Amino acid sequence: MSGTKTARVVVVGGGQAGFSVASTLRGAGYEGPVTVFADERHLPYERPPLSKKAHTDSLRVELVPESFYKERDIELRLGEDVVAIDTAAYAVVTGTGTRVSYDHLVLATGARNRPLPVPGTELTGVHALRSLDDALAIGRALTTARDVVVVGGGFIGLELAQVARAHGARVTVVELADRLLSRAVSPQLQERLRERHERGGVRILTGTAVQSIEGTDHVRQVVTDRGALPADLVVYGIGAAPRDELARDAGLAVEDGVIVDEQLRSITDPRISAVGDCARHPHPHADGLVRLESVQNATDQGALVGRRIAGSPSPYESLPWFWSDQGDIKLQIAGLRANTDDVRLALGDSPERLAAYAFRDDRLVAVETLNWPAEHLAARRVLERSQPVCAADLAGSTLGALVRARRAAEVRA
Ligand SMILES: Cc1cc2nc3c(=O)[nH]c(=O)nc-3n(C[C@H](O)[C@H](O)[C@H](O)COP(=O)(O)OP(=O)(O)OC[C@H]3O[C@@H](n4cnc5c(N)ncnc54)[C@H](O)[C@@H]3O)c2cc1C
Repeated sequence: MSGTKTARVVVVGGGQAGFSVASTLRGAGYEGPVTVFADERHLPYERPPLSKKAHTDSLRVELVPESFYKERDIELRLGEDVVAIDTAAYAVVTGTGTRVSYDHLVLATGARNRPLPVPGTELTGVHALRSLDDALAIGRALTTARDVVVVGGGFIGLELAQVARAHGARVTVVELADRLLSRAVSPQLQERLRERHERGGVRILTGTAVQSIEGTDHVRQVVTDRGALPADLVVYGIGAAPRDELARDAGLAVEDGVIVDEQLRSITDPRISAVGDCARHPHPHADGLVRLESVQNATDQGALVGRRIAGSPSPYESLPWFWSDQGDIKLQIAGLRANTDDVRLALGDSPERLAAYAFRDDRLVAVETLNWPAEHLAARRVLERSQPVCAADLAGSTLGALVRARRAAEVRA
């Protein structure tokens, strides 16, 4: 390998995580060559606004302007995909057959939408949402759509349902599971979210399976096991799968994501790292390995690998946090709620504010809030510092109040 300060870094994927690797390297004074392969033709951009606003012909979502890359000597190869990794020769192969050697390779390939396994998804008016191009196409369709069917009651589906309502369309969300966001938030919160969406005019059909999408050229209806729904626009979001095929084909350990160690290096090949949606990693807040799909995770993992390559290694321990804006509902999550055994609800000072505290073995491990950013920030502070909080501590209180009381007690002591 070349000297650590001059080794060539190749990043595959120009999304949130790939950008974070490259910008952190330069921010840390790294002087070696840095190349980012990005198969999309757009400058690296953020995805959250794509499902939260409707877009027609213009949308400013790029993370930084083009000059940022030029000024920092980051070689950004837009519209170029990497199709293979030659681990023996330390090189990647692009779609045009070009070989580019690396000393460090970082996989930041993200995730792709799971296909909807029913006939009719090829009709015009049927969309999935992941890329900027998808969002622009949906935005244009929304200007005339009257009947919108959203397949999938997850974050992206619910955000998009509210966008469609704001456009004045009739909106139905069809969800196979018995609840909305069934794996993502506590059951207590699922109910509240459902109420709020329904109050906002969104029709919600849970426990309902889409069987086909029908029309001639353009979509006309969605057929479910509970009847047909008229539709001139269908958007589906039924989850995502990691883009880990490059790693698998190169012989790296892969299981629903590239398996990495606590420094985010492939457990098979330490010259290769994986970050963001495509990485499955150990985490002090998880039992075993986790794969997370969030801006926080992509940004923090990219930064960690950038700092490591620049000479400052550390294990990945960032507290997971997430947000989803669904119309006027702001959902925020701190921590990981898997394997929790108790959930307590707290109401804020207005009926729209709510917090769900999730405990594992009587220790607070995750907090979900609706329209209550201050309580979310208090949760992040407590969970980041691993300060123990049990259910009794929160009886009749909020986390914000508990933090203030503990701080006052420290000052008095
Ligand atoms: C519509 C939408 C809304 C979201 N909203 C939120 C939100 O509100 N809050 C939140 O925390 N998270 C949200 N997320 C999730 C968040 O955007 C992702 O977790 C984050 O973008 C992951 O970053 P990443 O770099 O791992 O992947 P991505 O940002 O997906 O970037 C990966 C890039 O790599 C490219 N690529 C893949 N393979 C190759 C290859 N072989 N060669 C070259 N390029 C390649 C892909 O085309 C893609 O551009 C949202 C996601 C979507 C789709």
